[in-house]
Amino acid sequence: MEFIDLKTQYLKIKPQVDYGIQKVLDHGKYIMGPEIDSLEMELATFTGSKYALTCSNGTEALVMALMAIGVGAGDAVFVPSFTFVATAEAVVLVGATPVFVDVDRESYNLSVENLDAAIKMVRSEGGLRPTCIIAVDLFGQPANYQEVIGLAKSNGLLVVADGAQSFGASQNDINVGAIGDITTTSFFPAKPLGCYGDGGAIFTNDQSIAEVIRSIRVHGQGIDRYDNVRIGVNGRMDTIQAAILLEKLKIFPEELVARQRVADRYAAGFLGHPIKTPVILKNTKSAWAQYTILIENRDAVIDYLKKKQIPTAVYYPRPIHTQAPYASFPISPMGQKNTEYLARHVLSLPMHPYLSPEVQDHIILETISAVKIFA
Ligand SMILES: *Cc1c(COP(=O)(O)O)cnc(C)c1O
Repeated sequence: MEFIDLKTQYLKIKPQVDYGIQKVLDHGKYIMGPEIDSLEMELATFTGSKYALTCSNGTEALVMALMAIGVGAGDAVFVPSFTFVATAEAVVLVGATPVFVDVDRESYNLSVENLDAAIKMVRSEGGLRPTCIIAVDLFGQPANYQEVIGLAKSNGLLVVADGAQSFGASQNDINVGAIGDITTTSFFPAKPLGCYGDGGAIFTNDQSIAEVIRSIRVHGQGIDRYDNVRIGVNGRMDTIQAAILLEKLKIFPEELVARQRVADRYAAGFLGHPIKTPVILKNTKSAWAQYTILIENRDAVIDYLKKKQIPTAVYYPRPIHTQAPYASFPISPMGQKNTEYLARHVLSLPMHPYLSPEVQDHIILETISAVKIFA
């Protein structure tokens, strides 16, 4: 049994993917080839965002987004501590200061109360400029954007949506990519839409931000390759990855439906047991990057499931603010209670569009048995 089954997916579209890769080998435009343009058009259409820019990975997408809006030394950027490390890493890489905010116990996403307290703290201390919030759409569910954007507006802050796990999700009928000032995503193989290597994208409705990112992506290029108008990076996506994504994007809508079906089956199966299943906000659709439950005696349950050959994962066992390189950055005065609780209790179960009902029922039964044995 696979935690994420990429092989079944590949076999389903093998001729098209192989042909797409072969075409790139034949035309030889490995860097910024025609598939990049086609994919960017498809991604803009899919998300409903005006500008979609492909890039090398989801971390570089965050770095370039922060560079494009001028975040740097002296700026405070509010980030959750319960996320993949890249969210905070990007902030440090551009020279700004991450301020760690707790998450909500139910949605696993930014706690707006805790965020408000952190913003007030930074304002009253006066050392750093509150500049930006990076809201993470953890496990595929968009953050509570209505409230996060409201709070950002009243404080004059920008919102970068870290949609690395939520490509394909939506909120109030707006797709991830078109929510917030800038959205970044990742096409790492294990994300909802993955390529066969590293890849990412940045979405915005703002033409001037899009133009600046286009320039940053190739070393701060101006009118031509040897005209450099700003400091940039090498942040391009490989043409081969774009060719793969063009084919994967075609079956992505039906995969999202299948992921929802798997999530619904887990929720129904665990009903009435001491297993807390994910809570999805009103008018919100998750991309179900992960199916993450909360249980007691997690380590014993993991061992039991491992013996039954059921793979599981813990995202994330160590909050970022507790890790050495990040331990000296500020945290919200309201603390990190939920983050610390979640780090001890979360367990992610196999989740992918090709999980059969039979296999899934087996996972459900064994998980229930394990939770009972170690209660
Ligand atoms: C995966 C991930 C990233 C980084 O994406 P890469 O493509 O691996 O660089 C950033 N933020 C979050 C929340 C992620 O899950």
